[in-house]
Amino acid sequence: MLIVMHHGATAAQIRAVEEAVEAMGLKAQPIPGSERTAIGVLGNQGFIDDATIRELPGVREVIHVSKPYKLVSRDFHPAPTVVEAGGVLVGEGLPPVIMAGPCSIESEAQMLASARLVKAAGAQILRGGAFKPRTGPHTFQGLGLEGLRYLRLAGDETGMPVVTEVMRIGQLEDVCRYADILQIGARNMQNFDLLKEVGKTSHPVLLKRGMSATIEEFLSAAEYILAEGNERVILCERGIRTFERATRNTLDLSVAALVRELSHLPIIVDPSHATGKRSLVPVMSRAALVAGAHGLMIEVHPEPEKALCDGAQSLNGEGFGELMEDLRGLMKYLGY
Ligand code: PEP
Ligand code: MN
Repeated sequence: MLIVMHHGATAAQIRAVEEAVEAMGLKAQPIPGSERTAIGVLGNQGFIDDATIRELPGVREVIHVSKPYKLVSRDFHPAPTVVEAGGVLVGEGLPPVIMAGPCSIESEAQMLASARLVKAAGAQILRGGAFKPRTGPHTFQGLGLEGLRYLRLAGDETGMPVVTEVMRIGQLEDVCRYADILQIGARNMQNFDLLKEVGKTSHPVLLKRGMSATIEEFLSAAEYILAEGNERVILCERGIRTFERATRNTLDLSVAALVRELSHLPIIVDPSHATGKRSLVPVMSRAALVAGAHGLMIEVHPEPEKALCDGAQSLNGEGFGELMEDLRGLMKYLGY
């Protein structure tokens, strides 16, 4: 429920409404706006009888928000959120942010080479997986803690913040120590315990859409993080599973546009996992920016043919350099 106060409502009237909400055993969250103050009501299981609230002085209207996500919604938070991630700003009105790097951290030399080439091409944030959620147990599972060290080293050497996936709560302390941004992978989007724990940290979170998650489920997953007090969430569309097998996943670009209507959180697109094909990454990167994405996450490997994971969708240094050149032209055209 959202209680909208009159333009001239006094601080005492606002406080009285908050007290009335709290007396009902619910949580009141003031949402100051340039026009008028609203008070978000959290904690209800079902419909709330608003009769007493409506009668209070200064109350203009009471809106029942039936969405399972509230803190994430534009209803509760109309202004767009800009997330500061390791010194880089991601969000509405800012030039799209490019995160790039290998799928997995394979060695110190591979990570440093990757960092240098993505930096030289103009990426702002370095990615690399140390804990890998692989489909089968016999494939490379990531270097773990050793990988985190190489990632940090490469980020520091090239002056880029780093993002890496945390797969379970037991890894969180180490990942927080080495990374600037915590990635929650598609397979863990509904690992609610993990979401709650990352919500208790002060690290920005890159939340990837689950392979079969609806937009409502996606935004509800983000709600778990915000509900714990961490509002620094960047959403990431990375393709969903459909009947189509010609591409690895189906890039649901309409969500980039729709999420901007429904939520104040920034959303980026990962065209690498969405398509699974190197040849499609440049065109879908451009399409994502045209659709309004606030950034991209792109897999880049110095030698994709030798990559231990996701080589077929990884660009090499030259390919990524060309793409960045193209994107700069597009951003200029889009007015950034
Ligand atoms: C990744 O970014 O390396 C990854 C595993 O992505 P996703 O969770 O989207 O599959
Ligand atoms: Mn990958």
